[in-house]
Amino acid sequence: MRKALYPGSFDPFHNGHLDISKRTLALFDELIIGVYDHGPSARNLLFSTEQRVTMITEAVQVLKNHAHVRVQSYTGLTAHFAKSVGASVMVRGLRNSTDFDFELQIGQTNHWLAADIESLFLFANAPNHFLSATLVRQIATLGGDAGELVPPNVAAALKNLKR
Ligand code: ADP
Repeated sequence: MRKALYPGSFDPFHNGHLDISKRTLALFDELIIGVYDHGPSARNLLFSTEQRVTMITEAVQVLKNHAHVRVQSYTGLTAHFAKSVGASVMVRGLRNSTDFDFELQIGQTNHWLAADIESLFLFANAPNHFLSATLVRQIATLGGDAGELVPPNVAAALKNLKR
């Protein structure tokens, strides 16, 4: 049973995240999407941890093997969470060299923390290269329509945000 952890803030979960989830699921028996709970230090988040978990759980229903996806929130170190759920791999998406520089440092730190857990990087697919949760948040809070960049249920949640 090979389990992969895909960790992130996912505020909100967008098409780039869904694509990485789909491709990871094709490589592993189980995918755990780990939603980081920022706790009281939460800054500029659109959605609470519980809302993000619920939204992601609904969004991944379109995936063929969605029964093999688990969405779970966590606090603390991602490496510790990976161990606690029995994941042997942590998956991250790479859009550009800025992501690469950041992920190199995080990946090496995670290796130092938990050498038995590998980091696996998947390149963002072309249509999602420019896409980030920050961008979606900005469009949504400034009154734009980010509907095409996110799964339908996330688009609906963005529309319902009080401005
Ligand atoms: P974001 O980077 O969108 O603000 P997160 O920090 O929650 O969101 O990202 C979680 C993971 O998803 C990271 O590994 C990140 O590199 C990856 N990711 C983010 N955006 C994309 C995208 N457009 N395509 C592929 N992977 C992405």
